[in-house]
Formats: sequence, C-alpha cells, structure tokens
Amino acid sequence: METRNTILKLRKHLNLSQNEFAEKLSVTRQAVSRWENGETVPNIDTLKLIAETFDVSVDFLLGCAIGQCQSCGMLLVKSGDKGTESDGRKSEEYCVFCYQHGQFTQDISIEELIERNLQDLDSWNQENGLHLTEQEARAELQKFLPTLKRWRTKDGEEEK
Ligand SMILES: [Zn+2]
Repeated sequence: METRNTILKLRKHLNLSQNEFAEKLSVTRQAVSRWENGETVPNIDTLKLIAETFDVSVDFLLGCAIGQCQSCGMLLVKSGDKGTESDGRKSEEYCVFCYQHGQFTQDISIEELIERNLQDLDSWNQENGLHLTEQEARAELQKFLPTLKRWRTKDGEEEK
C-alpha cells in the first residue's frame, strides 16, 4: 500500500475532513489533497508529525502495518490495537477485539465471523475504495479467513 492510500485511509478512519486533518498538522488543505492524490509525499519530519498527532506508526504511514489479527484479519496499526496475553503482554497475533488476557473474547465460528464482517460491508468498501457486493465479499472472506492462524487448525485435525 502506498502512503497516499494510508493517509486517506487514516483520515477517513478518524472521520476528519481534509480541512480538519490539515489544521491538526498546521499544514494547508492543499498539502493534504496533494498527498492523497499522490502528487507529493510528506517528508520524514511531516510523517513523524502525522504519526505523533494521530498515534499511528511511521511504518504504517509508509504502507506497512505492524501486524494483522490472525483471527479477524484486521490490520494492526498501533500497539493499542493488539490484544493481551494472560500475563498482560501485548499479543503479537491477535487484535484487542478478538483476544484479551490470553483468551478469545468470543467463541464464534468462522461462518459467524464472516456474517459479522459482512454487516460492515458498506464502511469497509468505503475505506478501501471498493465496491464489492455481499456475495463477492463473502467469497473473498471464505477464501481469506481460513488462511489465518486461528482458523487453520480449527476444523479437522492438526497435522502431526
Ligand atoms: Zn481480530
């Protein structure tokens, strides 16, 4: 993912207009617009400022998430997104919604997870600039979710 996509995504996620986003960084709206159009890329100082202001990592802004939840597939962009182990450490594998104190917060099946994800389809399409129908999205999820660690050994036996 390129920086312009992550900036747009971050701004949509925060529900800010280009103006509001620009104001928080003391830059012009035009600058934000140019980043999002890919005309210019923020320099490293600006990236650091964006990261500090909105509590995300520079890596995320450069297009790398710090991880992906191995239960629901959500990208982890800041350490607060990570779930916790039983000893309080941050989980390296699961998000805070799926996993707390070393346990999954919900005992759900992969089918239920797919249906739950489909309920947010509109906002998901919007955030990712996609136009998937429910059928297409369900097919994607049926392909994608079983590749995640939580579901790989769930059905059938573990390989020995
Ligand atoms: Zn998750």
